[in-house]
Amino acid sequence: MSRPAALVVAGGGAAGFLAAITAAEAGVADVHVLEATAEPLTKVRISGGGRCNVTHACWDPLTLVGHYPRGSRALRGPFSRFAPGDAVAWFADHGVELITEADGRMFPSTHSSATVVAALRTAARRAGVQLHSRCALRGVVAPAGPAEPFGLQLRGEGSGAAPVACRRLLLATGGHPSGRALAAQLGHRLQAPVPSLFTVRLHEPRLQALAGLVQEPVGLELQIEGVARPWRQRGPLLLTHWGCSGPALLRLTAFAARDLAAAGYRGWLTVDWTGGLPAAEVQEGLRHQRQQHGGRTLGAQRPVPALRRRLWLALLDQAQLAADLCWAALPRAGEQRLLQGLLVSRYAIVGRGPFGEEFVTAGGVDLGEVNLATMESRRVSGLHLAGELLDVDGVTGGFNFQHCWTSGWLAGQAIAAALADSGSGDHG
Ligand SMILES: Cc1cc2nc3c(=O)[nH]c(=O)nc-3n(C[C@H](O)[C@H](O)[C@H](O)COP(=O)(O)OP(=O)(O)OC[C@H]3O[C@@H](n4cnc5c(N)ncnc54)[C@H](O)[C@@H]3O)c2cc1C
Repeated sequence: MSRPAALVVAGGGAAGFLAAITAAEAGVADVHVLEATAEPLTKVRISGGGRCNVTHACWDPLTLVGHYPRGSRALRGPFSRFAPGDAVAWFADHGVELITEADGRMFPSTHSSATVVAALRTAARRAGVQLHSRCALRGVVAPAGPAEPFGLQLRGEGSGAAPVACRRLLLATGGHPSGRALAAQLGHRLQAPVPSLFTVRLHEPRLQALAGLVQEPVGLELQIEGVARPWRQRGPLLLTHWGCSGPALLRLTAFAARDLAAAGYRGWLTVDWTGGLPAAEVQEGLRHQRQQHGGRTLGAQRPVPALRRRLWLALLDQAQLAADLCWAALPRAGEQRLLQGLLVSRYAIVGRGPFGEEFVTAGGVDLGEVNLATMESRRVSGLHLAGELLDVDGVTGGFNFQHCWTSGWLAGQAIAAALADSGSGDHG
């Protein structure tokens, strides 16, 4: 039998590539990436609407972990070792300049994900990483003893030239079920996968007619039957043909992903369209309109200037008030309905939207199963896990890739150090 490879990485995505490059650049001589599909880095290519939101300009690990509904505080250690600033420096060293948008999201200065894909592929090639496309890892035989290698069962056209044994194995198969099954077979505890970062369906024709409208900021409160405390977020809301989306809503569904899944994606969304103005101030605004602009129509005069005009007309309709009614003629009961509509409009969630803006899977290998300094399994020595396969997911904004860069880098470093220590001769 031929000599086992030093390192095999299953999964040619963000985490797998960063790990393979890191190990190879640190001197590991024989690194292989197995990619089940024809092309690696597909998600990087399609990410961020083709621009790839590489990371987020958030420099404090404590603040950073608040953007991870799953992972959160456990990620403080990993992020203090490889933070967004390190990702920025890593990409600069590999020829990719990142720019920061007003909201903190960081993109390649070319505004094209192809730049990131090309940089990762070039870095891998230069470091000597061998890529085997159309080669899926189907089974793993764990080492029988400390000096023994992993046995690998492969499938696919590209399997011929790929190694069937390795000293270190990294599973970086993303949200794909095959990687989760392998991790489970190797004895790891997994959290059940559920979608995160999704839009919701509302049966509200008035709002659906406003598809494309963004109101910013709004206050959102999500109530789910059987869940004691409501989930809350504040930020921009995008109205869609099926319900709503936008950063605040996606954050809300990310944090409530498990509760919503358990409730069959049913619940109540309460919207404060004023974005958090005190009720007394909004009430005063209504009185002001009545007293100062009594001769003008409701439709012509908005009490909250930040409210988009088409939305205001929809809220008038929701409160059963005609847009051509004069402010002076507004009955008290109508004013109360308006106040309620502005501050606490309640809509029934009737399901999950057709797709997520930045769809990721919540769930995966439980973080307790992994040493987060090395990403090495606590169950199988020599096995590492990184990226979306782990029970970590972030909200939109570059946080998911940041976790891939961090966990991939930590795994690559640790693997290189372990192979150097073992004196296996794989460390060049
Ligand atoms: C449309 C879209 C846009 C996104 N945009 C952003 C964004 O802009 N910023 C951000 O931070 N996040 C974004 N995300 C999330 C981000 O893409 C993921 O978090 C990230 O790609 C996960 O990386 P990964 O390496 O863990 O897994 P993946 O990227 O899924 O890579 C895993 C790879 O493993 C391969 N594989 C699976 N099983 C096997 C096997 N058994 N053997 C061999 N290979 C296997 C798969 O084919 C895949 O290529 C987006 C996601 C989507 C869907």
